[in-house]
Amino acid sequence: MSGVIFNIQRYSLHDGEGIRTVVFLKGCPLRCRWCCNPESQLPQPEISYVRQKCIGSAGCGFCAEACERGAVTFCTDGKAAIDRSKCDNCLRCAGNCPSKAIRAEGRSADADEILDTAEQDAVFYAKGGGLTVSGGEPIMQGDFLTELLQNARRRRLNAAMETCGFGDYAILRQAASLLDMVLYDIKSLDPGKHKLWTGQDNALILDNFSRLCADYPGLPKWVRTPVLPGFNDGELGAIRDFALSRPNVRWEALPYHSFGAGKYAALGREYGV
Ligand code: SF4
Ligand code: SF4
Repeated sequence: MSGVIFNIQRYSLHDGEGIRTVVFLKGCPLRCRWCCNPESQLPQPEISYVRQKCIGSAGCGFCAEACERGAVTFCTDGKAAIDRSKCDNCLRCAGNCPSKAIRAEGRSADADEILDTAEQDAVFYAKGGGLTVSGGEPIMQGDFLTELLQNARRRRLNAAMETCGFGDYAILRQAASLLDMVLYDIKSLDPGKHKLWTGQDNALILDNFSRLCADYPGLPKWVRTPVLPGFNDGELGAIRDFALSRPNVRWEALPYHSFGAGKYAALGREYGV
């Protein structure tokens, strides 16, 4: 079985205990306005285009040659322009672009490839590090996630998962049975604000968290709250108290940054904060 991933990041210090190898699965049910990984949101591979890197039609033009849908045209300065309404993300242009102005975001990968990469880093895992499955939202690829975590356990790799908590509890529970820790995002306790800023109500997220804590009280849980001025900066104490009222929970607030803002234009979308 293969899944759709958009990155494998090695030597991460921020995605669980110790040094981690992080695999990012594609697809997310939320649309957080501040999301710094917009390439994670759609479940399928897609193209990004950075105009400044384009060589131009005079010396190149290979993207238009590859495109069977007429989605690529050229501006008066020769730079490529992509009509996203005609594009079906076939990725042919990305394969033809010599300057990487057009890139494929996302690809298929199987569990063995990911776990082989993680095992190459095992020498760094001595102090509790391991594999972290992130996204996107991993539980959107439930069958692949289960296979990945089952094989990680067979290889005796420490496994963590980052989740936004919005999804099928049966998948989350199955994953938890194979995990050494969970990193769980709780962004707001206010359902209206949560829907406005993330596109979804928070009831399922909070309910899944409570069920997870009840079913796996011994599983370490690391609750994280990204702090957004005007959204949740007035309720951090309440979120902290909600999280810490459960067993085996550690809570931390993450400062807002806009590092991902530039990626939106490359994906043909608008940044929301
Ligand atoms: S293939 Fe790449 S570099 Fe060449 S014209 Fe198209 S976008 Fe520009
Ligand atoms: S991804 Fe495919 S359809 Fe879209 S612009 Fe590139 S070649 Fe054309």
